[in-house]
Amino acid sequence: MAKNSQAIQAIRGMHDVLPEQSPLWHYVENNIREVLSAYGYQEIRLPIVEKTALFKRAIGEVTDIVEKEMYTFEDRNGDSLTLRPEGTAGCLRACLEHGLLHNKVHRLWYLGPMFRHERPQKGRYRQFYQLGVETYGMAAADIDTEIITLATRLWKKLGIQDKLQLQLNSLGTTEERVLYREKLVEYFKNHQDELDEDSQRRLITNPLRVLDTKNPAMKNVVENAPSLMDYLGDDSRAHFQTLTDNLDNLGISYQINPRLVRGLDYYSKTVFEWVTDELGAQGTVCAGGRYDGLIEQLGGKNNYAIGFALGMERLLSLIELLTDVPIAASVDVYMIRVGEQAERQGLLFAEKIRDEYPNLKLQVNCNEGSFKSQFKKADKSGAKFAIIIGEDEVKNNQVAIKFLREIQPQKTLSYEEVIEFLQKQLK
Ligand code: ATP
Ligand code: MG
Repeated sequence: MAKNSQAIQAIRGMHDVLPEQSPLWHYVENNIREVLSAYGYQEIRLPIVEKTALFKRAIGEVTDIVEKEMYTFEDRNGDSLTLRPEGTAGCLRACLEHGLLHNKVHRLWYLGPMFRHERPQKGRYRQFYQLGVETYGMAAADIDTEIITLATRLWKKLGIQDKLQLQLNSLGTTEERVLYREKLVEYFKNHQDELDEDSQRRLITNPLRVLDTKNPAMKNVVENAPSLMDYLGDDSRAHFQTLTDNLDNLGISYQINPRLVRGLDYYSKTVFEWVTDELGAQGTVCAGGRYDGLIEQLGGKNNYAIGFALGMERLLSLIELLTDVPIAASVDVYMIRVGEQAERQGLLFAEKIRDEYPNLKLQVNCNEGSFKSQFKKADKSGAKFAIIIGEDEVKNNQVAIKFLREIQPQKTLSYEEVIEFLQKQLK
């Protein structure tokens, strides 16, 4: 084989969703849409590429994402552009650009691919899908409660509520964090020898992130660190209290985790994560928090914002562990045609059926072949029954129905009778 005819493969960490996997994606996406619309959320569609400066300013220069994970390139005009590593910055950019935030509240969502140059492994990819939920203009803890309730409803609908634990924390305000940061740095400086190299570096650039370490050797030193909760002011404390009271009233269980700081710089007050111990190291399925300050940081007026991002691949992996996911077959009825006249008649009849029953999934065999080979395909398609048209059927203006999933004698019906038969089957 000539060298230049070698197959080109996908980029490492970027995956195809094959046809056999897409029914599961549709099932999850449909449930997501239903839950979001039950709470009055609207979809916003955003570009996948933004100016690099947007992410640097929004996410922060000393975060993992901006330091080492972004796909940044120069376009033909010499502008620095970046494949979005997350959706919050672009969503807020769009809302500010279109003046959506003037005296208005918004409840928004988007679903699409994000890009991060990370080391690929199970649950960690270079292109992955996120559902983002973002709300603007609401200061009170009721909206914090709402988005947590909404996600909880989704877990229930998908049957995975027992696999996810909600962790909560409050990061307070920037001012409160400044005070806390001093205490934290002081503490870690007294325990320098227990910090790994990464944490030594973070201690200088972004000390709160030391708490986020995944290094088990540092478990002890992190657990004994001062708690941010002890440095919160009255307002932050009251906000957190209202949220936990609301969740208690709604019967939503949670764990307060004072070490939960989140990877991004823009959070304040409420932060939360749903974690699972069923997916190995990549256990965070959904994460979010309040980011009021980001609006001003991106050039808007003082305002309020809270949202979360859900990793779709990790969510799907959790659902794949369930034994009974109600996924419909992609074909209900399979049409078999043998003979030239039957082929012509069949196409006409198939269109008539689709006119009558737009929701029926009818697949017509288009590759000719014997009855036997077409039956095999009918069986593989997952269809409940086959409509068969051969020369005899054409002569008699009839079709045969063969049941593929249950033992029942074959039927011979007129075209009108088939329409009636299908109606009964659809019920
Ligand atoms: P992690 O600690 O796992 O790196 P993160 O803090 O970087 O997560 P966020 O930026 O908060 O993650 O993204 C929200 C969610 O998106 C994560 O909880 C996860 O489910 C998913 N996610 C993030 N990065 C990836 C990735 N590289 N591949 C697959 N899913 C991801
Ligand atoms: Mg990450």
